[in-house]
Amino acid sequence: MASRVVLATHNPHKVEEFGHIVAATRPDLEVVGYDGPEPVEDGVTFAENALIKARAAAAHTGLPALADDSGICVDALGGAPGAFSAYWAGHRKDAAANLDLLLDQLSDIADPRRTAHFTSVIALVVPGGGEHVVEGLWPGRLATQARGAGGFGYDPIFIPDGQSGAERTAGELTAAEKNAQSHRARAFRALAPLLRDL
Ligand code: IMP
Repeated sequence: MASRVVLATHNPHKVEEFGHIVAATRPDLEVVGYDGPEPVEDGVTFAENALIKARAAAAHTGLPALADDSGICVDALGGAPGAFSAYWAGHRKDAAANLDLLLDQLSDIADPRRTAHFTSVIALVVPGGGEHVVEGLWPGRLATQARGAGGFGYDPIFIPDGQSGAERTAGELTAAEKNAQSHRARAFRALAPLLRDL
């Protein structure tokens, strides 16, 4: 049984989320950060990029490695921005510009056809022990205007499915509400059995 797992992310928000799920599933497993060389994320799918990051961390440390990749997929755009979500409006990674560009691109598209989902893919690479990929989807549709100051990225324009009463964007949900249903939460749930077997 492995006793340590390395997390190939520098995002403190994600480190905390990963820490919780690992602790809940395998309290004996120590989660360590990754400070080795950063690979070029030149994949075009979430799975490719998650595997690139996890493979690099596993190769550098010799430990089982976890990495995730995520983004928003808009049906009317054939699944874009997808793996390009972080820099949809350019490599300066400006979240407000990304969101504004997406709203502008969809400005003529009416509500029933504004369906979208967030995707989170997590890769687990075990040196000498194989590679695993799990996925979580959070279905919904896009608002016509940003609403809410919570969350990050595209949250203010994403209306999750399955709400009763006045619909809120993900940016209007509390952190607890978002964490209970998000794409990342769903991917984490799929990861739990793999961690148990590690
Ligand atoms: P990465 O997985 O850190 O590369 O993030 C990809 C990009 O997808 C982020 O920069 C956001 O634009 C978007 N994204 C991923 N998850 C979320 C989310 O939960 N809410 C809003 N935007 C997200």
